[in-house]
Amino acid sequence: MGATVLVVEDEPQIQELVAVNLEHVGHQVLRASSAEEAEAAIRAALPDVLVLDWMLPGESGLSLARRLRADARTRDLPILMLTARAMEQDKISGLEAGADDYLTKPFSPKELAARIKAVLSGARRSSRTTRSRSRDCASIRRRAA
Ligand code: CA
Repeated sequence: MGATVLVVEDEPQIQELVAVNLEHVGHQVLRASSAEEAEAAIRAALPDVLVLDWMLPGESGLSLARRLRADARTRDLPILMLTARAMEQDKISGLEAGADDYLTKPFSPKELAARIKAVLSGARRSSRTTRSRSRDCASIRRRAA
């Protein structure tokens, strides 16, 4: 089942890799290269899921995720963050900013597609709440301790 995925990535090769692979598994892919472009695309039409790079020129993906979570229209938009950062503290920051999942570069396109599927099915369950996200953060903190 195809979904509309907005891919926010400033590196053209990674953007292309992600877009081509998601199109291959049946999704409709929209692309943005900055937080500003992503916001314009989201204003025009709400996607089903956001694939958001952390390091973007100008406003970071992390900051955009926080703002999307603060807005009633985009509060429940599933967000999968992409990043070269693999430190435990960065994962916690990403999840606390409102990301539903997290993928560290380099990642396999198959894993990305599988995680998008999981994030989408999570969004369809009514049990998806802020509380379950906080629980995820708490369990990562326990593992990090
Ligand atoms: Ca980047």
